[in-house]
Amino acid sequence: MYLVNVDQEKCSGCGECAAACPAQILSMVEGKAEVTGDPAECLGCESCTSVCSTGAVTVQEY
Ligand code: SF4
Ligand code: SF4
Repeated sequence: MYLVNVDQEKCSGCGECAAACPAQILSMVEGKAEVTGDPAECLGCESCTSVCSTGAVTVQEY
């Protein structure tokens, strides 16, 4: 299982993570990325973290 988190302070609102996530866990809410999908579906692929230029998304395995 993975813990997906978005630091709203760091998010620039570019939308790249939401577009990159194959499990549709991330989406844009009022100009910021949020975890709106089911985190249990996270594949741990790190696509979101690799496209985020501000380091706002973190994915941690537990
Ligand atoms: S690690 Fe992959 S599946 Fe999980 S939130 Fe990021 S892009 Fe989506
Ligand atoms: S890729 Fe990073 S900066 Fe862009 S919307 Fe996602 S969390 Fe925010």
